[in-house]
Amino acid sequence: MPANPMFWQKEVETLERPALEALQLQRLQETLRRVERVPFYRGKFLAAGFKPEELKSVDGLRRLPFTTAADLRENYPDGLLAVPREEVLRLHTSSGTTGKPKALFFSRRDVDNAAELLARAFCMTGVTRRDVFQNMMSYGLFTGGLMMHYGAEKIGCMVIPSGPGPSERQLLLMQDFGTTVIHVTPSYAFYFADFLEKKGVDPHKDLSLRKAFVGAEPYTQETCGKIEAALGLDVYNSYGLTEMNGPGVAFECEHKSGLHVWEDNFVLEIINPATGDPVKEGETGELVLTSINREAMPLLRYRTRDLTSLIPGACACGRTHRRIRRITGRSDDMFIVRGVNIFPQQIERVLMAMPQIGRNYLIQLDGLDDLTVKVELSPPAFDGQVGHLEELQNQVAEKLRAELWVRPKVDLVAAGSLPVTEGKAKRVIDKRSL
Ligand SMILES: [Zn+2]
Repeated sequence: MPANPMFWQKEVETLERPALEALQLQRLQETLRRVERVPFYRGKFLAAGFKPEELKSVDGLRRLPFTTAADLRENYPDGLLAVPREEVLRLHTSSGTTGKPKALFFSRRDVDNAAELLARAFCMTGVTRRDVFQNMMSYGLFTGGLMMHYGAEKIGCMVIPSGPGPSERQLLLMQDFGTTVIHVTPSYAFYFADFLEKKGVDPHKDLSLRKAFVGAEPYTQETCGKIEAALGLDVYNSYGLTEMNGPGVAFECEHKSGLHVWEDNFVLEIINPATGDPVKEGETGELVLTSINREAMPLLRYRTRDLTSLIPGACACGRTHRRIRRITGRSDDMFIVRGVNIFPQQIERVLMAMPQIGRNYLIQLDGLDDLTVKVELSPPAFDGQVGHLEELQNQVAEKLRAELWVRPKVDLVAAGSLPVTEGKAKRVIDKRSL
């Protein structure tokens, strides 16, 4: 056990910035030498007139072009592998909405290192070896389940590898083994809260839950508050992607004021998605990551498509790794209605701040350019009077108009009537005939 239970690797987590930046540069130089063996990167270096040995600062990386999801697909299955095949210990894939999956390889050191980063996350949220961790995330090709499992084992708490379903069994495990920490997607957290309600189980009194790691889908602060209230626990936001180890790229510490990005493992940039230029500190843009501590498949300047911003200044916890704000959406989730750019999270933020509104919603685009938001009522909100319902409908539409600059049609529906999912929620249905 480390001396301070809130730190797993205190020295590197609190490394002074100049030393941290020197470590980044050294690891970046090693990474560049490693990827020179990959024809894809060798070609990019040549085209940009870039010589890895001439890199004198981390910023020098900006001379290279970005790596995109399309590059990963075009080099499927193993075009970006930087080590001999026999050094690969694990394969994970990340499926997109179209075409081939992205294949990601891990060496033994890569798997171990990913687990170390997650052990840091468990420690900094106050999880100890006395906790019981029920991992309700999918195990398999998706990194979310397995990697968190390895991280939890590092710190030595008891792990229940339950995977995502069924809810009946999840509850039984929680009751019989005193689960204190869970790992879920936001949509499954709500689904499970509804299940508990139907079973007459009050998580505040009847279960031992105290913390949840919630990730794999972007969600708002308002959703976080609703999950905390519904399950009676403390929610910590996690961020990661399969292309960069899986979960564990960035986590909230006990102060919950942004997510620390482990900068000894990743070089982070935030760019304007349209121009590719860096945004000013604090401005929202697309997160671009370079893995600098990976053997099997490092990626340079990978465009995550996730939108966030940097939080200036130091965190009260003493960690020197910079923080990003919660992901506000994906640059490719954006849809356009009547010429206005809209992100699903803007709609979610408005809905989740209204107590009369339940937990599920659906955005539908149809006709020429019509935006309909279907929203579940929270069960006590409906008193049976149609007039009240119309009034609420108008209120929701008006609040959405103020946020989006487009007034949507609002359909209030009964609690539990919209489709629920145990995996990633599909929030936007586009049926437009444009
Ligand atoms: Zn902190």
